[in-house]
Amino acid sequence: MRIPTTRILEQLEAFYGKQEPCWPVDPYLFLVWWHCGYPASDAACMKGWASLQGSIGVDPPQILRASIPELTKALTPGGMVPALRAKRLKEIATRVQEDFGGDLRRGLSGPLPQARKALKKFPNIADPGADRILLFSGVAPVAAVPSNCPHVLVRIQRGLERENYGVNYRLAQQAIADEIAGNVEERTRAYLILKRHGQELCKRTKPKCDACPVRTICAYHAGNHRGRASLT
Ligand code: SF4
Repeated sequence: MRIPTTRILEQLEAFYGKQEPCWPVDPYLFLVWWHCGYPASDAACMKGWASLQGSIGVDPPQILRASIPELTKALTPGGMVPALRAKRLKEIATRVQEDFGGDLRRGLSGPLPQARKALKKFPNIADPGADRILLFSGVAPVAAVPSNCPHVLVRIQRGLERENYGVNYRLAQQAIADEIAGNVEERTRAYLILKRHGQELCKRTKPKCDACPVRTICAYHAGNHRGRASLT
């Protein structure tokens, strides 16, 4: 029998504590933050974000006034390809100014499919990124799944993640959509706790099952103990 998502989240939250986002929840500011680091980990993005805020600023007019070399220098603490990220920031700021009058949040207030389509026109934003922005900005309580760990719920409930990323994402999204109340607060809570668990213990390769607070209810762990994981 599949373990309820609510029970899994409760056990994980009892272990990790309540989680808070470490990124800006405003849609435009999130897009800037996301390009502040590469590879785009929380730590890398925070470093680049602090540097950008401290030197140039993050509002569209501030980014548009800066030169590419100035932006590149500001983004360098965030990791690789700072010049490419500088160009992307210019693209984002230009589009927000020209297409949304400087207010992307208000521009997303129409029908959800249109909002999603608009977000996916920004660089490096596919469905998981659009889901995250829509949820955390409070535009809609979509069942967003952390893009770097869609396997977490799939492992616990089904035993072995699929090889296809999109299938794992959809399975995890369905588990949240079916069982977690359709409000922004509960769905951000689910997102954050799954993200933390995927980063800390249920890593994509070599999960640290011996230290895991949900190992006694995890189908993947049970499968490994039997010599093979089940896939349902
Ligand atoms: S027991 Fe292992 S596979 Fe299951 S949730 Fe914990 S870390 Fe992930």
